Amino acid sequence: MTARQLRLVCASANPDKVDEIKQLLTGIAEMEPRPSTLGEVIEDADSLTGNARLKAVAVCDASGHAAVADDTGLEVDALGGAPGIYAARFAGENATYADNRRKLLDDMNGVEQHLRTARFRTVVIVVWPNGDEIVVEGVCEGQIAAAEMGDAGFGYDSLFIPDDGDGRSFAQMSADEKNMMSHRARAFAALSGALAFHSSTEG
Ligand code: IMP
Repeated sequence: MTARQLRLVCASANPDKVDEIKQLLTGIAEMEPRPSTLGEVIEDADSLTGNARLKAVAVCDASGHAAVADDTGLEVDALGGAPGIYAARFAGENATYADNRRKLLDDMNGVEQHLRTARFRTVVIVVWPNGDEIVVEGVCEGQIAAAEMGDAGFGYDSLFIPDDGDGRSFAQMSADEKNMMSHRARAFAALSGALAFHSSTEG
């Protein structure tokens, strides 16, 4: 089987991420939707890889097919690496994207722009029913803006200015522009190579 013919069940239940993942898998694999009967997977591992694996294994078990999951953290240097793997619940258990952005701006209040360095880190994992797995990572370096910039995207996009861009935040870019430099795009590019190798080593 070639990587192009591979079908992967998407383990993410977050529609914002599913949209990006679908686009990023174009030319790599066909994406199948997450089984609708599967409930939320509790992400209680202590690493991005652990949480991504929990989601992928649950979906692989429920569907009987290879599953792909991603997990993303935001590491802010001035906050000692926080929120890290707790990006989704930075402002509390049921925090909204806006709550988390507000807390990030509050916690960074007074931090000078040159000290507002940060990075998004995405781990992508594919798990097969026979137990095979591939784990890859993508990183995007940038800075935390002093105030919200733009309304596109999701999560922390309006506060993240990637170093490889032109000074705009992710929320001021089109989806295609974000996908040219994002942490998730880089992880899926790495996945493409790893899948080609995996398929070449299959019996
Ligand atoms: P998750 O665990 O991969 O769902 O990501 C955790 C949190 O990180 C999400 O709830 C978002 O707030 C944030 N996040 C993930 N990916 C992105 C992104 O591409 N841009 C902005 N925020 C993101």
